[in-house]
Amino acid sequence: MKDEGQRGFIPMEWQKRTKYCGEVSVKDAGKEVVLNGWVNSRRDHGGLIFLDLRDRTGVVQVVINPDNKDSFPLAQRVRSEYVLAVSGKVSKRPKGTENENIATGQVEVETSALQLISKSKALPFELDEADKVDERTRLQYRYLDLRRPAGYMALELRHKVVQRVRNFLNNQGFLEIETPDLTKSTPEGARDFLVPSRLQAGHFYALPQSPQLFKQILMVAGFEKYYQLARCFRDEDLRADRQPEHTQIDLEMSFVKKDDVINLSEQLLAETFLEIGQKIEVPLKRMCYGDAIKYYGNDKPDTRFDLLLSDVSDIFTKSEFKVFANVIKNGGVIKGLKIDKASSLTRKKFDEYTDYCRGLGAGGLVWMVIDNEIKSPVAKFLSAAEKKSLINSFEANPGDVIFLVADKTEVVNQVLGSFRLLLAEEFKLIKPGFHLLTVIDFPMFEYDEEEKRLKSHHHPFTMPTEDSLDLLDKDPLLASANAYDFIINGVEVGGGSLRIFDPKLQEKIFGLLGIAKQEANDKFGFLLKALDYGAPPHGGVAFGLDRLVMLLAGRQSIRDVIAFPKTQAGTDLMTNAPDIVSDKQLKELRLKTE
Ligand code: ASP
Repeated sequence: MKDEGQRGFIPMEWQKRTKYCGEVSVKDAGKEVVLNGWVNSRRDHGGLIFLDLRDRTGVVQVVINPDNKDSFPLAQRVRSEYVLAVSGKVSKRPKGTENENIATGQVEVETSALQLISKSKALPFELDEADKVDERTRLQYRYLDLRRPAGYMALELRHKVVQRVRNFLNNQGFLEIETPDLTKSTPEGARDFLVPSRLQAGHFYALPQSPQLFKQILMVAGFEKYYQLARCFRDEDLRADRQPEHTQIDLEMSFVKKDDVINLSEQLLAETFLEIGQKIEVPLKRMCYGDAIKYYGNDKPDTRFDLLLSDVSDIFTKSEFKVFANVIKNGGVIKGLKIDKASSLTRKKFDEYTDYCRGLGAGGLVWMVIDNEIKSPVAKFLSAAEKKSLINSFEANPGDVIFLVADKTEVVNQVLGSFRLLLAEEFKLIKPGFHLLTVIDFPMFEYDEEEKRLKSHHHPFTMPTEDSLDLLDKDPLLASANAYDFIINGVEVGGGSLRIFDPKLQEKIFGLLGIAKQEANDKFGFLLKALDYGAPPHGGVAFGLDRLVMLLAGRQSIRDVIAFPKTQAGTDLMTNAPDIVSDKQLKELRLKTE
């Protein structure tokens, strides 16, 4: 029998549902229902055919009896992911056949009429085995991947978090305002995506890296409280878990002090955690940037475990051990960490750790097993006093292992910052749950070795602290910023700052950054001009929605919480973007591809 009618199409009329699959319950026993959904699975039990019918709410078992001459032949033909309308009576399942694993496991629907709405080809992968399938295949068939409960739940959580954020901010008097996507280059420091203008040939829009300048201008315009779920575009190499476009919860406020923005941000974060039933105590713990670098090696400290870094350079200033002495002489440091009761570590493991640290740029890794004496390849180069000081400094006991890295400060911090995470994972030191933290007291600038100039640590519109104003001329690298970052389990989920609202100060900062007056005017002239017309004090923050939802959902990748993500190579495997365009389109834009 053919499912298609005379015109070659499946008949268009179909019965609309009266109930969702996942909501059929014992209370409905004896009642007639109509269900719409997908065939999750089909079982032929010698005569009776059982279908699990699925919609967004769950699955319910549907039974088709061979006596049902109209529906049975169709039930024999249907396959996984066919779309059906099922009419029938809800009945309690016979004793012993209940299924405790599903919410509707006490009932089934005895089919009176089965109707085909849509067919499915054989699937490229079984939906309930998708976790074992190559991600590229899943991204190519993203609609099938998302059809799984895991896909649905991630995006449902995202939706709910967004609604909470909106409600929270609306109740605080914020206005949701959109800013343009076709705009001028913005200052987050990444490469821009450019869009050629047809009407202004030879000119380009840049997609915004963030709405930074527009939100500041909205403050000058007197809106006082703005927010937006803003799409941000950054043409970066997609190392790690990044996407060329991501969504920020972006906000800005006027007539505020630093703590006002921090407090509101912390409350907003706490609000999002309510969605997963977690109560977060605010204010969050605060840590200054200096301590984060000192003890954790980076400015997004993972506080789920201790393993703090310790600077032991002092012990080795006059060391006979040339490697250490030279590093210190050249302005570097010797830092390390201690892991308790790790004497079971093998030589092979130490070699593995050394390779790991070398891979991150260190010259090497020194390991020391503490026994009655120190066992280490470098032990013979160290004096008794140095060994004693080391043991005291780390409060090390027999059985503990000390690791040291000696190099330039940045290298040491970067290497040990990652190594402590590796050790914590291997020694199972990571405490469960969410560990939130606000990092404050950032420096205004960092030194760009390559370009031999100062760079903003946050962005060029960040306000220095009052105390730092004098340092701007004397020693700008010591100047601190009114900036703050929000960290969850070692992941930076947000950051912001108070902004400069004095055009003169803004000019000064541009000068320090080596942005000449003309360049500043070309790039940011519209903001500078706006600051000339009565700018209020203002500040704001932006949270990475994708990362936040990923953490809340307990997922490992932001791709899991984005409906249509791109690969590491920046491609969309479903639509095949980016793609070539026609010569006609290129001509209109007066572009050549070679
Ligand atoms: N625009 C900044 C960013 O995207 C955040 C902020 O300062 O509000 O990092």
